[in-house]
Amino acid sequence: MLEVGMALKTDKVWTPATVELLKRLWEEGLSAAQISSQIPGSTRNSIIGKRHRLGLPTHKQAPSQNPLRIRAKRERVMPEFKPQIVLSPPEAPQGEGIPFMKANSSTCRSVEGYEVNSKGHTLALFCSNPKSLEASFCAFHQNIYYRKDGR
Ligand SMILES: [Zn+2]
Repeated sequence: MLEVGMALKTDKVWTPATVELLKRLWEEGLSAAQISSQIPGSTRNSIIGKRHRLGLPTHKQAPSQNPLRIRAKRERVMPEFKPQIVLSPPEAPQGEGIPFMKANSSTCRSVEGYEVNSKGHTLALFCSNPKSLEASFCAFHQNIYYRKDGR
């Protein structure tokens, strides 16, 4: 048996046998240093250089814990856009005001004006808009009188 380790240049280390050994050990996942310890005359650097020349793939990295982890898309739930319901503004009373005597529980209590009757009495004229029984005014006047305090 030849003493291959003696004065050989590292290039001489490589024979088909050692190349095969390198390939096999590399594929087994040994490090360059580990392989060089099994190939007489080789060094870690020569192993690395040979490995490059042979085009051996780098060792695969240990698989990461969760390679397929996909960052869950947090689907942002947009608040449903609700168009504000805009009530058409209550209509202003139409026509003449109605005299007190004709005003009743279903007409607005807002005084719209005054009339002087044949006897010289000044009488209030009421808004002729209908109102709900609970309210004192029609929607139009309710809106005016209660707008500021929000009631
Ligand atoms: Zn009214």
